[in-house]
Amino acid sequence: MTDCLFCKIIRGEIPTRKVYEDEHTFAFEDINPQAPTHVLVVPKKHIRGLKEAGEEDSELIGRLHLTAAQIGRQRGIEDGYRTVLNVGPKSGQSVFHIHVHLIGGREMKWPPG
Ligand code: AMP
Ligand code: ZN
Repeated sequence: MTDCLFCKIIRGEIPTRKVYEDEHTFAFEDINPQAPTHVLVVPKKHIRGLKEAGEEDSELIGRLHLTAAQIGRQRGIEDGYRTVLNVGPKSGQSVFHIHVHLIGGREMKWPPG
């Protein structure tokens, strides 16, 4: 996807603070952090969102969460963090390249807004 913001970040066309990269996934600091740790974990494959993902993406979606868990471990926030997938415009999804938010390092409220 040439026009997609996160595809551009993955390709290095837009500067970002990279946290992690492997063959399938890419993680970077959110530009507008909502907590001391706010990292976005995305697949290198362009998938519009969770509701557009297919059976063939099962493993990739698992990888996003496991990458978030690994970063949570490295950041020492395992006493409480949240992984969030916003799905669709009413949820607040503003970038249509699937991403897991890893949010932590502070007290989390429930239920989320
Ligand atoms: P969502 O609202 O779930 O679609 O999340 C999109 C996230 O992308 C927001 O938390 C934004 O702050 C973040 N964001 C937007 N542009 C950038 C960027 N250039 N670099 C890093 N994060 C970004
Ligand atoms: Zn994309």
